[in-house]
Amino acid sequence: MEVLLLKPTVKDTIWGGTRLISEFGFETKEDNIAEAWMLSCHKDGPAYVQNGVYAGKTLNEAIEAEGKGVLGANNADRPDFPILIKLIDAKEKLSVQVHPGDEYARRVENENGKTEAWYILDAAPGAQLVYGVKRKISRKAFSESIRRKEVETVLNFVNVKPGDVVFIPSGMLHAIGAGIFLAEVQQSSNTTYRVYDYDRPGKDGKPRELHIEKATDVVDLTVPSADFTPQGEPMITNGAEKTYLTGCRYFKMYSLNVNGAYEDSASYESFVSLLVLSGEGELRCGEQKLPLAKGSSVFIPAGKGAYTVDGTLEILETRT
Ligand code: ZN
Repeated sequence: MEVLLLKPTVKDTIWGGTRLISEFGFETKEDNIAEAWMLSCHKDGPAYVQNGVYAGKTLNEAIEAEGKGVLGANNADRPDFPILIKLIDAKEKLSVQVHPGDEYARRVENENGKTEAWYILDAAPGAQLVYGVKRKISRKAFSESIRRKEVETVLNFVNVKPGDVVFIPSGMLHAIGAGIFLAEVQQSSNTTYRVYDYDRPGKDGKPRELHIEKATDVVDLTVPSADFTPQGEPMITNGAEKTYLTGCRYFKMYSLNVNGAYEDSASYESFVSLLVLSGEGELRCGEQKLPLAKGSSVFIPAGKGAYTVDGTLEILETRT
């Protein structure tokens, strides 16, 4: 299988901004793009192949035609495509939410659970997000606080800055605040339990639905320690500066600053996702050459072997 260059599905919402239109050049008929699903086989928003024999097909269709081997040995036992990568532009704040773990999600929603991680690309001065609870609270009191519209008093609001890495295991309460632009890597799932939406109207003028019971079932009410520094130190390797950001059994994220020619490879263990956050360059793999620019999303099949990224680029690299 060739290396695939992908085009995202984009989504507008009541909180979305315009940076994915003005800075990344993504197209929409709406007045905002809140989310661009850059690497996705999810039915709610697939990524589309732009090049080669699969041009115009979804990533999922290309993988089905080639067989699951292109996902790599690490994904051999997983029922579907393991991850979903998004760019998110929050002009306004998002609802406070929580996602179930695999066991609950499969039992109740027939979906995967959702553990996710955010790489903060930009944040307005004073921008905050919600990260868990700030004090110990019982499940009953938590559920009561939602019903009484007092849940804001128990939420842990924290400041973030560009370069921060926020790991959100399933069960962790969270919300992206206004003025935050980020890349998100998550399990491929779209199950969200909304806890609080600041009492604002949705698109149809009515408040969006809350999911108080399910949220109370799955929420983790231990007070988290909020350390948002990348887990690894920057390392100069094969012609780039590479930093391990965070990871879990579903994915591993790295930031990559390329200045010149960077060499790496896609092993039989996992496919590689490269998401270009800034700059320009080229990817070479065997006979294939692909242009890279801000917003390019590349899927390199497992077992593809050596490839070179050439140029001046900032990239989010994800492996499973
Ligand atoms: Zn979430």
